[in-house]
Amino acid sequence: MAKLEILTYPNPLIRKKCGNVENIDDDIVKTSAAMAETMYRAKGVGLAAPQVGILKKIIAVDIGEGLITLINPHITMSEGLIKSEEGCLCLPKLTVDIKRHAKVQVKGYDVNGKELTFDAEDLLARAFQHEIDHLDGLLIIDRLSRLKRDLSIRKYRKLQAAAQDDDEQ
Ligand code: ZN
Repeated sequence: MAKLEILTYPNPLIRKKCGNVENIDDDIVKTSAAMAETMYRAKGVGLAAPQVGILKKIIAVDIGEGLITLINPHITMSEGLIKSEEGCLCLPKLTVDIKRHAKVQVKGYDVNGKELTFDAEDLLARAFQHEIDHLDGLLIIDRLSRLKRDLSIRKYRKLQAAAQDDDEQ
């Protein structure tokens, strides 16, 4: 499979809602493997299909405890709230503090069609919520207040401009 390219904000594809995977065929299996590869190459702890322009409900997560690939993932229970710093491969260099559930239960399917359930907390819970947000076209900046969102976008644009200047030198 061709190398997948990670799209960055404000690419419109990362703002679209993804459809359910109806049938886990060869294509989905290959896409999942390519997504994991792309995530590791980018040194991310998670990747959702729309980040590479595929509008299907597939996520890959690895917080250092092994690869989890989930198809049609959804949150079935959530508990508590905790604020922590987060970044996103679609918003290079930007980090923001975001409130998320401290614990979540996530259900989905593996590439063999087996249903999996995860009772996640801490970083894994955060990674799941972040990636599942992507499937709804939501980014970390959408989890901020209007004011903080505007400030973060401005900061992101500055960071991108600075990075481009560095490239040109
Ligand atoms: Zn992200």
